[in-house]
Amino acid sequence: MSDRPLTLVLVSTPVGQLGSGRGGGVELTLASLVQGLVQRGLHLHLVAPDGSCSPVQSAQVTLHTVPGVDQPSWQHAERDSPMRIPQDAVLPRLWTCALELASDADALINFGYDWLPMWLTPHVESRIFHLVSMGSVSAVMDGAVADLARWDQRRLAFHTRRQASDFDLVEPPEVVGNGFDLSRYELKLGTDGPLGWAGRVAPEKGLEDAAAVAARLGETLRVWGLVEDNAYARRIESAVPAGTIEWCGFKPTSELQRELGGCRALLNTPKWNEAYGNVVVEALACGVPVIAYDRGGPGEIIQNGETGWLVPPDDRDALEQATLRASSIDRQACRGWVERCASQEGLAARVEAWIRRGLTPVDGTIS
Ligand code: UDP
Repeated sequence: MSDRPLTLVLVSTPVGQLGSGRGGGVELTLASLVQGLVQRGLHLHLVAPDGSCSPVQSAQVTLHTVPGVDQPSWQHAERDSPMRIPQDAVLPRLWTCALELASDADALINFGYDWLPMWLTPHVESRIFHLVSMGSVSAVMDGAVADLARWDQRRLAFHTRRQASDFDLVEPPEVVGNGFDLSRYELKLGTDGPLGWAGRVAPEKGLEDAAAVAARLGETLRVWGLVEDNAYARRIESAVPAGTIEWCGFKPTSELQRELGGCRALLNTPKWNEAYGNVVVEALACGVPVIAYDRGGPGEIIQNGETGWLVPPDDRDALEQATLRASSIDRQACRGWVERCASQEGLAARVEAWIRRGLTPVDGTIS
């Protein structure tokens, strides 16, 4: 197809408005991608729940917001739960709006982890693509991804190979990584700050292991992020000596990066197959080495011995020993990896290339 600038409809996650933090890493991915695609000259319609703000003020971006009840997130449902769509749900309304805009667009990209847009894809003329934001957490979603992969896998992209390996695919996966606006993250070279942890405070994120290691070392652990599960947060706090955890709350990126940069190391202890791990890269962008379980996206992103240390999953002793070696990591090398492998410009280029490839007619066997 020609090189004229594409027009895309980007459909946000239905689990919360952009800016609420409930969308987790998807919110940052979208903000970064919108900015990167605008710089590449694309025209964008961003469809999101009411209350969302456009991450970029530009004549190339039009925000469309729709009312409705948030979608429950899949990662807190039982693995064999059925698909649930609440009454007055925002999810179908996002897709009504997106499909109305589709006649003026080359393609639609779905950022929500949901059955409905996956199911819709082969049934509409509009070309719908999906950036899958989580690994396998539900049998219904595994089926939806596998069905779509069999129909035309070019419509699917993933953040990491490890995430993609959760799914039943027919071709090697399209892996786009993620991208960050590096001008928002300042490299800090000091190495004597506290230990940090960042993410949604929810069981799949494994904060209890990082807290236990901080307690063993007699150190404070600074924790940034939205507390999704209060009972879980209280249980963790009561399992370690008072004052071990310093709750910092959910901060906008500008503040998060300033505070993160002051850390000696970030501990990252996921209990699930994390699709990517934005906070890992945000820490690296500030020059903070990351000590993590060798699981999911963080296990693929962190270069062992160069940008941090990877230890066997769920091994608190190994995590403790590796934390003691944090200062042997060169903070400049951490930033260098992000500049080379996870810039906003790089993500936008990879996503545009993926969409253009998917829009190219093939020789009649698929699509
Ligand atoms: N985050 C934030 N403020 C905070 C803590 C976290 O904005 O105080 C953001 C962070 O920038 C990241 C997201 O929350 O983009 C968490 O994404 P991640 O990929 O680490 O995990 P997810 O929540 O998607 O499972």
